[in-house]
Amino acid sequence: MNSFRSLNIMYLKGIGPSRAELLQKELGIATYYDLLHHFPSHYVDRSVIYKVRDLNGEMPYVQLKGRFVSFNILGEGARSRLVALFSDGTATMEVVWFRRIKQIRELYKTGNEYIIFGKPTLFNHTWSMVHPEVDLPSALTAAQGFRGVYPLTEKLRNKGIGSRTIFGWIQTLLSTRGAEIKETLSASLLEELHLMPLREAIQVIHNPKDNNSLQRARFRLKFEELFFLQLNMRRYSRKRNGVVQGFRFSRVGSYFNNFYSNYLPFPLTGAQKRVIKEIRKDMGSGRQMNRLLQGDVGSGKTVVALLTTLIALDNNVQACLMAPTEILATQHFETISKLVAPIGVNVKLLTGSTRKKEREEIDRQLQDGTLHILIGTHAVIEEKVKFRNLGFVIIDEQHRFGVVQRARLWQKNVIPPHILVMTATPIPRTLAMTVYGDLDVSVIDELPPGRKPVQTIMRYENQRFNVYRSIGRQLREGRQVYIVYPLITENEKLDLKSLEEGYESVCETFPSYKVAFVHGKMKPKEKDYQMGLFASGEAQILVATTVIEVGVNVPNATTMVIENAERFGLSQLHQLRGRVGRGADQSYCVLMTKQKIARETRQRLEIMTETTDGFVVAEADLKMRGPGDLEGTMQSGIAFDLHIANLATDGQIVQLAHDWSEKILDSDPELASPENMPLRNTLRFIVDRAIDFGRIS
Ligand code: ADP
Ligand code: MG
Repeated sequence: MNSFRSLNIMYLKGIGPSRAELLQKELGIATYYDLLHHFPSHYVDRSVIYKVRDLNGEMPYVQLKGRFVSFNILGEGARSRLVALFSDGTATMEVVWFRRIKQIRELYKTGNEYIIFGKPTLFNHTWSMVHPEVDLPSALTAAQGFRGVYPLTEKLRNKGIGSRTIFGWIQTLLSTRGAEIKETLSASLLEELHLMPLREAIQVIHNPKDNNSLQRARFRLKFEELFFLQLNMRRYSRKRNGVVQGFRFSRVGSYFNNFYSNYLPFPLTGAQKRVIKEIRKDMGSGRQMNRLLQGDVGSGKTVVALLTTLIALDNNVQACLMAPTEILATQHFETISKLVAPIGVNVKLLTGSTRKKEREEIDRQLQDGTLHILIGTHAVIEEKVKFRNLGFVIIDEQHRFGVVQRARLWQKNVIPPHILVMTATPIPRTLAMTVYGDLDVSVIDELPPGRKPVQTIMRYENQRFNVYRSIGRQLREGRQVYIVYPLITENEKLDLKSLEEGYESVCETFPSYKVAFVHGKMKPKEKDYQMGLFASGEAQILVATTVIEVGVNVPNATTMVIENAERFGLSQLHQLRGRVGRGADQSYCVLMTKQKIARETRQRLEIMTETTDGFVVAEADLKMRGPGDLEGTMQSGIAFDLHIANLATDGQIVQLAHDWSEKILDSDPELASPENMPLRNTLRFIVDRAIDFGRIS
């Protein structure tokens, strides 16, 4: 494709400015390119017409051919709906519309034959279809093969824009400008990998004739997406390695040695020792380090951060550690300043609520070099925070901290500081390759000795009494308990209500204990105060939303009850569960659900009861739900959005894309050869587009 791809879709026949705006807002479709890359999420075989009599519960979208027998408007006002009886001679079903009732009533006639298309559901022993697409039978003969079903939103449907509408626009675009689609991959790639040319692939993905060519088109488009992602990342990291000089931390000196021999509170695990060696080697290489440290919750990343920081200090630079929340930053500050107190290291805490006077002191010490380690929230990387000689930056649990943000850190010093990103989110390999493709990875794959795995059980609402009884037992033994509610989200009012009711019911059930209460909508001060009550042991129970997800360390807390567990993703449940099992005592995690949950939901939750291995949980999560959440929180790490490739299921293509981008860059690092011209141009187009998009959203 070339110049026409950037044209605004409002110029396409049938769209116009107001629909263009809607499409941009709802689906992010702004240009011809975007529209052509709005791929069907699935397909139905147009040659198959189902019978109402043969419908069953497992069916996705189907088409039926028959006549409307009657139309009735039921209910009133906002609850009114149009219900039609539809018969195909084998049986009768209901077709229901909640919106655009008047138009629809006028559009369709009883007695005429129509093809209806939608998802059948069984309700009160009657099949029904809500807001189906309705066509005249002639539409069928016009085009055979598969029919794409395009992703849509409620709002678009409300405005009468359906899958067919989108299909129609794409057809218009293909027939008027399709010939201008230019190849984006090099000839040799197409040949070596037997890829379908782009123009054909785009044509086929919107109008597949058979499954074989559809699969080839999908493969080609997936490969392309993942390939440019990898190409961009590999090129970027090669450039960095080639050009950017880093500090060479050549020695291990007295800060490290003194602490290691005299003040280390426990022997390191083998895994901790190994990753420290990896980091040390990296920091001594003369190249700037960009490393990801992965380790499950409780695997002991903090002490690794500290020991490697001491190596930095031994080489006469300053270090900073950034945490996502004030609570976590404070906890890091307390842990670390206590540990290093005997070896004369100066540590300070900087957050949004640091007083002006303290802040001035910090600024002064940062610049005269007497401050060794600065710990804090985002505040530490603000422009105005100036270090004398920043050599090492640690970023804890910040998935949103992508390539761009990291690059900004380099400017904090003449020589860019080494960067260590720490995360407890276990990222499956292919995802890591994509999201953190520019980072080297170290993994702590071993927990400190003596940990008892958290016992996880599922309980239904009607077993609540028993759950409370076990909580009571733990409390009497002097232990503390978390009770977690889903994050306050879409239905804010309802969520808050259930949280508050939960809080009251807990207070009533355990009148002799103090209950702390936090949620994300609280003022930070109040939140910190409540968290403080629990952390200090003054409160024995903490009722909370997922604000406690990351990092909070209260080893005396041995039980966590998660309410409406079905509303959480597995990875999130795993993070939450990591808050207990931090001491020597046996800990428990209770997943509460309502009685009636879908089979898949139960299977999903059962994984939690079967394993405490974060990687197993993450793989399962990725398989069952797709990278959704994980990817969402890491989008900024990727910078591009994926239209067709699926990081969960396309691992092999990720690998292929990775290997080929390496191979091409090996022989042509600047993509300067005429052969690679399409690659260079496409990469520039995609990157510019991602940047523009970033600016808009
Ligand atoms: P995370 O990786 O989740 O950040 P932390 O660094 O907070 O884990 O460590 C969790 C707990 O384990 C802390 O209380 C810490 O003191 C303890 N710990 C870390 N490493 C070891 C070790 N090698 N032996 C015993 N306890 C350890
Ligand atoms: Mg931690």
